[in-house]
Amino acid sequence: MTQIQINIHSKTYPAVGQAGHHLAIANLNLSFKTGEFVCLVGPSGCGKTTLLNIIAGLDTDYEGEILVGQQYTHPQIGYIFQNPRLLPWRTVRENIELALEKHQSPAIIDPMLEVMQLTQAQNVYPERLSLGMSRRVAIIRGFAIEPDVLLMDEPFVSLDAPTARQVRELLLKLWQQRPHTVLFVTHDLREAIALADRLIFLSAAPMAVISEIIVPVPRAERHNEDAIEAFRQQLLNEYSEIKQLL
Ligand code: ADP
Ligand code: MG
Repeated sequence: MTQIQINIHSKTYPAVGQAGHHLAIANLNLSFKTGEFVCLVGPSGCGKTTLLNIIAGLDTDYEGEILVGQQYTHPQIGYIFQNPRLLPWRTVRENIELALEKHQSPAIIDPMLEVMQLTQAQNVYPERLSLGMSRRVAIIRGFAIEPDVLLMDEPFVSLDAPTARQVRELLLKLWQQRPHTVLFVTHDLREAIALADRLIFLSAAPMAVISEIIVPVPRAERHNEDAIEAFRQQLLNEYSEIKQLL
């Protein structure tokens, strides 16, 4: 079942320092199935953040439409940014509780804190968290509202490799317990293969889809660096257009 269909006919920005417009996105059609984990991979400046902002409803200055099921509407969105954006004067738990809808019980946070190994840290303030811990809090906050789509914009880019790997594994654990449609932006092909059901490769501006590839590596093998690297090499050998992107 297709849950969300995105058709962006055009998205332009005023050209910087000159007259006219910069065409950021043209004729982009994407669809996402319920519960699918999709990684969007593309070069810096190709329009990935612009796309997520349009899906999130933060940017409405574009031509096109977003369909949820059969309806023209806006999906309920969870958005996890590069910077975790925690309120420094609230504890871990309070930061998550603030995101909840009125009808949601705060008790739903407990099992998520446990999966993300944050139960012991729930009453501390963000300044005492490591970079990896604050990403884990932001992930719980994103899942807690049970969004139609969870958007993640290069959330692990500033982490060292072992920490990024640990947070990725915990993210997958939480996602497998609470399946949600995830759109995860990265320019790290290994990260994308470790996480995604499907990879979407995007071109430089105006953004277009270059290839869409289902990741064949079984979920149980995603922690295996050799399996990830073997598929990465296979992709680079088979698709010269992907090699040029990265
Ligand atoms: P990415 O996230 O893939 O690195 P962005 O979506 O941030 O790319 O940007 C896509 C393009 O649009 C870039 O060329 C960028 O300079 C331009 N752009 C982004 N935001 C604005 C803005 N507010 N005004 C003008 N140009 C912008
Ligand atoms: Mg970006």
